[in-house]
Amino acid sequence: MKILESSNYKIALVGNNLNNASRASGAMIAVHGELEDSKLYDYHDELLLNLSENASLEWRKIIKKIDNNIITAKKTFVYLKNNANNLEKKCFKVISKYGKFLKNVKNSKINTQYLVLNKEFAISSKSLFKKIDAIISKNKNIMFFNDQANINNVYSNKVTLKNSNKIISSNKILIAAGSNSSNIIRKYKMVPVYHGVGTALEIKSEELYNFINKDTVYRTANRGGSFCGVHLVPRDKLGSFYLGAGNYLSNNYNAIGRMATVKYLIDALTKEISNEEIVHKTMMKMVYGNRPISFDNKPVFGTFDKNKKIFVASGFNRVGLTVSPIITEEILKWIGDKHTDSVYDIWKPNREFISFKDKDYAIKMYVDFYLSNLIEHKLVRKKDLKDIKIKLTKDAEEKHKIVQKKYKLKNDFGISPEILSLF
Ligand SMILES: Cc1cc2nc3c(=O)[nH]c(=O)nc-3n(C[C@H](O)[C@H](O)[C@H](O)COP(=O)(O)OP(=O)(O)OC[C@H]3O[C@@H](n4cnc5c(N)ncnc54)[C@H](O)[C@@H]3O)c2cc1C
Repeated sequence: MKILESSNYKIALVGNNLNNASRASGAMIAVHGELEDSKLYDYHDELLLNLSENASLEWRKIIKKIDNNIITAKKTFVYLKNNANNLEKKCFKVISKYGKFLKNVKNSKINTQYLVLNKEFAISSKSLFKKIDAIISKNKNIMFFNDQANINNVYSNKVTLKNSNKIISSNKILIAAGSNSSNIIRKYKMVPVYHGVGTALEIKSEELYNFINKDTVYRTANRGGSFCGVHLVPRDKLGSFYLGAGNYLSNNYNAIGRMATVKYLIDALTKEISNEEIVHKTMMKMVYGNRPISFDNKPVFGTFDKNKKIFVASGFNRVGLTVSPIITEEILKWIGDKHTDSVYDIWKPNREFISFKDKDYAIKMYVDFYLSNLIEHKLVRKKDLKDIKIKLTKDAEEKHKIVQKKYKLKNDFGISPEILSLF
């Protein structure tokens, strides 16, 4: 926001908002509700958690400046249904350290546990971008190019605009093209970023608004690997909500959502939050966005060793909107030729890949995540679980071999379970 308000910079903004994740996001300023099984945590996850905690405080200041009305939820209920899978139970246990258990939840479901996270709020991504668009459109120093950018030579600061067939040069270039970021600079070695295709629903129901707690996000913990669980986020006081979200990985930028996600979300809303009657009358529209997820599922953030004038900010996957105030501060330091925080050097775009624990553990987790997903979506019978586990382990070992060879990884390198599903 500060760059955009400043009059000292001439800025060219290039983009086309195709499958933009930020605009499609549920816009929970999500910190502890995102926590997963703490056994999986490493230094990077701790750093990201710390970033999210600080960012949440920064958001409050930003919102005060923009408009307090963009806050749509002041707290978050995390619920655990009766027949939750093991992964969800583990994640819920971790989250419970940060919340308080609730007894009297309005229209609660039988045998469901509820936690409240009092500081975890949500904003309307629609209102947020309406405000941001209005601010930047007034700035005479910003030029807009509704186009597709490419950088053919990482040593020069030239950007090719595909549709208008133009080349523009700039003193500094920020690549913040979400899940497409590594494709912009394809000819140069950087950590690849993939498309985590997200599907969500914008729904409208006054009955739902009156049925549940006001100003409250209803969400679950993670239910299996890249699948995020269920989130119901209020959007206004007229009964509009965001209901999300599915996620699957793709190499294709234009990938669209899966029917199974829509079915799953509608089922969850019916059985876990409201009822048949309410859902029957609810109106809906689908929303897509691509979460940026890198090869090792760690952020890609910083300049290239060989050209400090190009900065990449991507790979923040499920929490990109939450952490944006803090990462923007770093980008501003770089623009202003000030020292950036060296703590983020571990995420620079031309770094070595970061191992997910070791190979055996990565394979075990891939199988656990995959099974949780199959159970959650009722795609496996109990009696087949053992055989499927053996088959999944074999598949994962094979995939590991292929990816290890392709990227010349060490023998015990652990490939992030979310990423393995792509190969
Ligand atoms: C359904 C869904 C729900 C989510 N919910 C939350 C949430 O509640 N809280 C949270 O913190 N995060 C959430 N996220 C994650 C969050 O939205 C992302 O981490 C974040 O928005 C990523 O921001 P970004 O700027 O990197 O990418 P984007 O917002 O996707 O922006 C990248 C832009 O670059 C453009 N672009 C791509 N290629 C080119 C090119 N060659 N030239 C020019 N422009 C290009 C794209 O069109 C796009 O507009 C959610 C994501 C999804 C999909």
